Amino acid sequence: MNDMATESEGHQEQDGMRIIIVGGGIAGLATSIALRSPNRTITVLERSRMLKETGALISLQPNASKIVLSWGLAPFLEPCEPIVDTAFRMVDASGKLVRQLDLDFARFGADRVVYHRQDLHTALLKAATSTDLPGRPVEIRTASRVTACDPDEGTVTIDGGETLDADIIIGADGIHSAVREAVVGEPREAVPTGTSAYRMLLPVEALSGLKIPKDVLDITQTVTTMVVGHDRRVIMGPGRGGKVFGIVALVPDEHMREKTPASDSWVTQGSPSALLRAFEARHERAGLIQQYSREQARPGTDVGSNRIKLDPAQFMEYNCNYSGAKDWVAQKDLGSAVEKLSVSGS
Ligand SMILES: Cc1cc2nc3c(=O)[nH]c(=O)nc-3n(C[C@H](O)[C@H](O)[C@H](O)COP(=O)(O)OP(=O)(O)OC[C@H]3O[C@@H](n4cnc5c(N)ncnc54)[C@H](O)[C@@H]3O)c2cc1C
Repeated sequence: MNDMATESEGHQEQDGMRIIIVGGGIAGLATSIALRSPNRTITVLERSRMLKETGALISLQPNASKIVLSWGLAPFLEPCEPIVDTAFRMVDASGKLVRQLDLDFARFGADRVVYHRQDLHTALLKAATSTDLPGRPVEIRTASRVTACDPDEGTVTIDGGETLDADIIIGADGIHSAVREAVVGEPREAVPTGTSAYRMLLPVEALSGLKIPKDVLDITQTVTTMVVGHDRRVIMGPGRGGKVFGIVALVPDEHMREKTPASDSWVTQGSPSALLRAFEARHERAGLIQQYSREQARPGTDVGSNRIKLDPAQFMEYNCNYSGAKDWVAQKDLGSAVEKLSVSGS
């Protein structure tokens, strides 16, 4: 046995099992905490300087809440001003409350808790490197982009050419993962789900004074509300102790054509005007006028029939005596009610 081999074995004994985690996002940090142990040396390699995490809310479902609490993270999570979600509501596009699921602790064994992603990330980073939790603190190496990984040799190479070896290498490097590519031996693109999400985070004061039905938006309640349309929906609720309000607007991919930079896992710049177009709402009156126009443009006869279905009186009424689309609809409703009465009376 040569001197070098003895030295390396000595290191291994002292380090215990050596684990490298590539990527210091929520998954990488959470994994590092879960694996902490007195005889494991864990290193997280993160390409960024960890100065920013996506500015959005994230909710830990009860199963995830149970896990983070079992890791003893309560003191780290408390400063995040978590919001315990009390209910999940579904509202239809007209603003009518259709369903409500109360999220009580007893039923799910834990709370559904909403965090600001930056706060959750910071809490996980503090917990991973803390000396207050069992096991050895995790070493975080920022500005360490992994450029190559050899799964057979158990090595990774980082920018600048340094090669590190470990007993276990874990890929937590997001949807454009370099580790995944090394393991499967070929590039693998993330597969689009068909749905994209616009995300917004507003100071809660920005919402005061808005005239929105309480079932849709009530900033005094800690609930998540989902407004459900045909192929798009809006999910929203409060975060950071009620100081911010998060909105996620899900649209089919064809409505969101912004290009994701390959360097970034999730985030791409959105266009506010494209978002507004995707959720274009019509003024009620404009909708009624359109409805009238559509009726006037309907086929004049059934196919193969000479019977004219249009009513000149209605046409003239609209054009010569028009006092608003609502009035027109009211008259139409009255007309059909009278028609029904005369049919049942005859
Ligand atoms: C806005 C939004 C809201 C969400 N809401 C929820 C929710 O409410 N509940 C829920 O359960 N999930 C939610 N998700 C999904 C969840 O947040 C993600 O699945 C999770 O954050 C993914 O974490 P990750 O660590 O795997 O990836 P990422 O967060 O992408 O982290 C990957 C990390 O790896 C680093 N990295 C990449 N390549 C390299 C490399 N070559 N070398 C070194 N480092 C590298 C990146 O810099 C990054 O820090 C949401 C996601 C988003 C975007």
